[in-house]
Amino acid sequence: MRLGEMQDWPLRVTRLVDHAEREHADGEIVTAWADGSITRTTWGTVARDARKMAQALERLGIKPGDRIATLAMNHEHHLIAWYGAVGMGGILHTINPRLFDDQLEYIANHAEDRVLLYDRAFTPIVERMKPKWKTIEQYICFDPAEDETGFREWIDAEDGNYEWVDGDERAPLGLCYTSGTTGNPKGVLYEHRSTMLHTLAQLSPDIMGLSKQAVVLPIVPMFHANAWGVPWAGAATGAKLVLSADYRPERMCQLFRDEKVTHSAGVPTVWLTMIEHVERTGETFPDLKQVTIGGSAAPRAMIRWLRDRGVAVGHAWGMTETSPIGTCGAPPSGWDQMGDEEQVEYIARQGRVPFGVELRIVDDEDNVLPRDGKSSGRLQCRGPWVIKRYFKAEEDAADADGWFDTGDVAVLHPDGTMQITDRSKDVIKSGGEWISSIELENAAVGHPAVAEAAAIGIPHPKWDERPLLCVVRANGNDVSEAEIRDHLRKHVASWWMPDAIEFVDELPHTATGKLSKLQLREQFRDYRFSNAEEMVGRD
Ligand code: ADP
Repeated sequence: MRLGEMQDWPLRVTRLVDHAEREHADGEIVTAWADGSITRTTWGTVARDARKMAQALERLGIKPGDRIATLAMNHEHHLIAWYGAVGMGGILHTINPRLFDDQLEYIANHAEDRVLLYDRAFTPIVERMKPKWKTIEQYICFDPAEDETGFREWIDAEDGNYEWVDGDERAPLGLCYTSGTTGNPKGVLYEHRSTMLHTLAQLSPDIMGLSKQAVVLPIVPMFHANAWGVPWAGAATGAKLVLSADYRPERMCQLFRDEKVTHSAGVPTVWLTMIEHVERTGETFPDLKQVTIGGSAAPRAMIRWLRDRGVAVGHAWGMTETSPIGTCGAPPSGWDQMGDEEQVEYIARQGRVPFGVELRIVDDEDNVLPRDGKSSGRLQCRGPWVIKRYFKAEEDAADADGWFDTGDVAVLHPDGTMQITDRSKDVIKSGGEWISSIELENAAVGHPAVAEAAAIGIPHPKWDERPLLCVVRANGNDVSEAEIRDHLRKHVASWWMPDAIEFVDELPHTATGKLSKLQLREQFRDYRFSNAEEMVGRD
């Protein structure tokens, strides 16, 4: 075949850090450490440090393709480790420290990690797991106590005179496990090319609005789906990065203010804590322009609250399996002519795909459903940064045409927006129809006295399942069940009304800060509606 006559430029992510070193050498990276201290470095220094780390890994006998794990929050050393590990051809495996011991044991052994770089705060996990981790030969602490040596000394023994390992753009560079709500966690193996294409898509203003002018504080950990790509896209744009190892809202607000943060990103739970804090203290974030909310559905009340403070909201959907960006809700044409409520409705949907991702919905027989804003079906996606096969799996996770079943249920609208109605395992099946747990929760948190809400299906003798709504009251108020019902009636169909509302002090969350419906269902396993029996006799 005759090739074109342009240059061969493999899409390797080392080009990102080279670019940052050349074009944004003074671009600032700020770290707020767990002990309260602040350090500052630049892309120029990070690039040099990453080369030193690549040399240090080679000195340990680490080879391209070997797995280098991290158990760490966000900070400059973690960033150096990302580029250092992939720069010598290694595969960076970011471990979520909030996983259970069984999962931690499984994933490090399954990944066959050879080196583990960890935060001092996670020493108890390391000590506990060491006897169970069979393949890890070297443990290096990112931030050792003053009288001990660690990451800094380890890399500073090298001179940084190093050429990145070259190779195929389809070579693997990263490994991230899904939290595995059923069965063992599953590994997603990213490639240089998939990550580069994802990064290029992320530079679109419709995704996170990142630019050279931006000051970005991701409140999403580097172990949660690659901090949604911010450490890669940051190198491409030269945006100032603010990394924090501590997500307490008072720390976040202080950083927003002191570092003049313009862009941030996090799961709804993060914003929920922030809202509570700000409501209590009256803190402000004068420079914040845009936040991206994803990982779970962003409630309308949250979107409104941020907009009332002059912050634009981008609502994103994605998964570990999609690198993670699948969609993001940026303003469409005609935005300024839309009314306030219309804009909120638009943002409450999960947004549109960037170029590179394709979506479709299918019914139970795998028939493709229309994008009519009404049909609801299993959401499938495909594209060059969507998973083909889980790490070490025997079979592909995507079908022969590349369609990957996301496990979500969604509606596609004629204007190109996608709306998640539920995860297929969370949807409440009542009398052959589906009730969206997300919509119920969304409506409930629209009541100002409700801090958080979760809806689950409880077995029902007549209807199969009926909704139970669990509610956490905001800041110790005493809102009643009747008041919440009055509010819900205005927002959801009458047959969606929960059969019971239970007030709880807190709701369980997963290792990535999402509502854990699995745990909640377990907690309410023996729950029965008091009216269930009498309902059977009716009609
Ligand atoms: P885990 O499955 O371990 O929670 P992920 O972070 O990969 O890990 O989760 C992906 C899932 O999160 C999606 O399949 C979807 O159910 C949910 N999700 C992500 N973003 C949104 C969103 N904006 N709205 C609703 N659900 C979302």
